[in-house]
Amino acid sequence: ASVFDHLEQAPEDPILGITVAYNKDPHPGKVNLGVGAYRTEEGKPLILNVVRRAEERLLADRSKNKEYLPITGLADFNKRSAMLILGSDSPAVVEKRLVTAQCLSGTGSLRVGAEFLARHYGVKLVFLPTPTWGNHFKVFMNAGLAVKTYRYYDNKTRGLDYEGMLEDIGAAPSGSVILLHACAHNPTGVDPTPQQWEGIRQAIRNRGHLPFFDSAYQGFASGSLDKDALAVRTFVADGGECFIAQSFAKNMGLYGERVGALSIVSKSSGVATRVESQLKLVIRPMYSNPPIHGASIVALVLGDGDLFSEWTVELKGMADRIISMRHKLYDALRARGTPGDWTHILKQIGMFSFTGLNKEQVQFMTREYRIYMTLDGRISMAGLSLKTVPLLADAIHAAVT
Ligand code: PMP
Repeated sequence: ASVFDHLEQAPEDPILGITVAYNKDPHPGKVNLGVGAYRTEEGKPLILNVVRRAEERLLADRSKNKEYLPITGLADFNKRSAMLILGSDSPAVVEKRLVTAQCLSGTGSLRVGAEFLARHYGVKLVFLPTPTWGNHFKVFMNAGLAVKTYRYYDNKTRGLDYEGMLEDIGAAPSGSVILLHACAHNPTGVDPTPQQWEGIRQAIRNRGHLPFFDSAYQGFASGSLDKDALAVRTFVADGGECFIAQSFAKNMGLYGERVGALSIVSKSSGVATRVESQLKLVIRPMYSNPPIHGASIVALVLGDGDLFSEWTVELKGMADRIISMRHKLYDALRARGTPGDWTHILKQIGMFSFTGLNKEQVQFMTREYRIYMTLDGRISMAGLSLKTVPLLADAIHAAVT
């Protein structure tokens, strides 16, 4: 007998499990629109040219070594990541009111932030939008925080439930942690307008809540790094505190390198210094210090004018291809006369489209058309191509008629 005989078979992760099912399907015409990873027009993963150039430089530089990084990671990476999201002239940067720690991509940054809050913040309650990226619940609960939700998406309008969101933020216990998607809300693709962000900021500050931004798609949503950072910058400009988890998985195509950063913005540099000292105590027993390669790539790209401008062009290329897929899919549905208003496919922002298809329709599309996607009706626009749009449109048409 095994000491683990009592274990039950656990279910696959609802998102990553789709790729498992996709890989098992022998059909050559299968399409994976489940996982949020960029694909080229040919359906292949993309390594940015600027990443290859940075790697070549790293490889050629004989002064580089593989020593341990400090607990909070590569200092140059941290500084440049903070400036990327906050802007180089941000008051928090200029006044040294923030601490940034290189963490294991977006997920690891969220988790380290959650662990820090669980240990050092008075209100152990976090509010997530409905719906949200499924892993948010587990990241915060496993760190020991209680998790509740606020209204976000309105099924009827397929837009933001702005009034509901403000009401729920207003009713949350004072000092609650409010998780916000910085841009390109996953899974809905619905973001507040700049005016609405200002209203949300006031509602959060009025109640003394603590905003925690999840920034997994900077530059990937609109094609502009600055535009996609607007929400975060609106909050930091008021001098208040906030947490920011950044990921370089999507915008630099560094998924498997696990490069990200947690920034904690404080009200004074004195507090920031003490926050940093405690943050190190949180990180050290978890994984000691983060890996060196991916962060070195990002630091090079962000720090070199030539590489940086090449990156912005490649980034815009990815964003534009996704936006063009929205138009192709919309046109294909119109051409088929598919019943329903599909303008939300055009209006939504970022990697995903929240189609409004229900679980039964999704299961039908997977069974009959071998289109793999999450059961909530979310499709990865980044996984679509000119070749696969007609199949998806046929599948949607058949599912709704
Ligand atoms: N937050 C959101 C909203 C996401 O969509 C993702 C990626 N799917 C992440 C965080 C984290 O991704 P990673 O850990 O790969 O950076």
